[in-house]
Amino acid sequence: MNYLDNILFAILLILGIGYFTINVKKLIRNIKLGKDIDRSDRKGERWNNMFMIALGQSKMVKRPVAGFLHVIVYVGFIVINIEVLEIVIDGLFGTHRVFSFMGSFYNVLIGSFEILAVLVLVAVVIFFIRRNIIKLKRFVSSDLKGWPKSDGNIILYFEVVLMSLFLLMNATDFHLQNVAGGFMHFHPAGSFPISQYISALFEGVPNGTVYVIERAAWWLHITGILIFLNYLYFSKHLHILLAFPNTYFANLNPLGKFENLEAVTAEVKMMMDPNADPYAAAPADAVPAKFGASDVEDLNWVQLLNAYTCTECGRCTSVCPANITGKKLSPRKIMMDTRDRLEEVGKNIDANKGVFIPDDKTLLNDYITPEELWACTSCNACVEECPVNISPLSIIMDMRQYLVMEQSAAPMPLNAMMTNIENNGAPWQYNQQDRLNWRDEN
Ligand code: SF4
Ligand code: SF4
Repeated sequence: MNYLDNILFAILLILGIGYFTINVKKLIRNIKLGKDIDRSDRKGERWNNMFMIALGQSKMVKRPVAGFLHVIVYVGFIVINIEVLEIVIDGLFGTHRVFSFMGSFYNVLIGSFEILAVLVLVAVVIFFIRRNIIKLKRFVSSDLKGWPKSDGNIILYFEVVLMSLFLLMNATDFHLQNVAGGFMHFHPAGSFPISQYISALFEGVPNGTVYVIERAAWWLHITGILIFLNYLYFSKHLHILLAFPNTYFANLNPLGKFENLEAVTAEVKMMMDPNADPYAAAPADAVPAKFGASDVEDLNWVQLLNAYTCTECGRCTSVCPANITGKKLSPRKIMMDTRDRLEEVGKNIDANKGVFIPDDKTLLNDYITPEELWACTSCNACVEECPVNISPLSIIMDMRQYLVMEQSAAPMPLNAMMTNIENNGAPWQYNQQDRLNWRDEN
């Protein structure tokens, strides 16, 4: 490698990491549009969740086939990318396999990368078949049409190209390492249990041509990795990074426990307290500006982080009783809509010099309809099933809260029940004095 190559490589690296950093800043800015919520408690439990669920994939493997394949791709992704560090150093300083001084340990590393690369290729082919040939129900439902479907496939093509380039790079490298009398700086380094067989393809090919193929595979491989890195922001594959904070900051309370609104609790307590002064001035911040959520900035930042973390796997929708019985609700769509709307708000802010200009749209109605919200049984099956601890239900509940408390727009039976509670102290349409009538029946 000459100095021009080193400089070109440095420029490529700066562009790739620079654009990624810009998007990470945008991502953090968008998540911070959410309301504050304190998730700094029970740190031990949070670290444990992160290690078990994000790193250990413990919820993924509940569905063994998909879970096992996902673990292969995930481990392959993490481990093979250790080699990226070597590629970066080689690229910047013109060295050849700079970590080869580790001797037999290096051989084991390169050998295991190669075996993982083949396993990843096999897993990716099976994933492709499940999505596009067998067409599993959760991958062909209406909320996954268009870009989400393409996104799922694009990443599979990416993996195939990256793994193939990796093996081709190694095969040509192996070939050049074994040129009688040596070839340029290609000294023997690494063990190649797979690509040594691929290198047989280059028997009889001039060394100069093999060198060009090696360089092309090397450059395309690292360029592909940088493109992949920058693609993440626009893809559901952002979960590769966000699964970690998402599982750390997830709700630790029992699933059935819902948060009461402080302002409402205070109001009820005052009603029940005979000594309370009804004319006492309430603290200025006692009543929120808006009850519930009609748009993304009414949600808290963990809910917005959830939206960016969603892998669009559809496990939640596949167990949702409302969806299974033909209702319009899909918890996956709730998360995808929240992310889409958040992105729209973020772009509005970018276009207007850092200020959001109202666009006559909201998450409620323009993305998620009341019909979807009221179809939810609040059973928590979606939350239980989610492999990265996302809670579509918490968004549904906040939006319902808005419908009830700000718009009095609950469905008729619910409105009737609330009126009964208000008038009769019970959900039924009986006068309180008639409550014990059943006792008089024979
Ligand atoms: S909590 Fe609601 S959205 Fe989630 S599975 Fe149950 S019914 Fe479906
Ligand atoms: S919310 Fe969870 S289970 Fe549902 S699609 Fe997203 S990642 Fe999958």
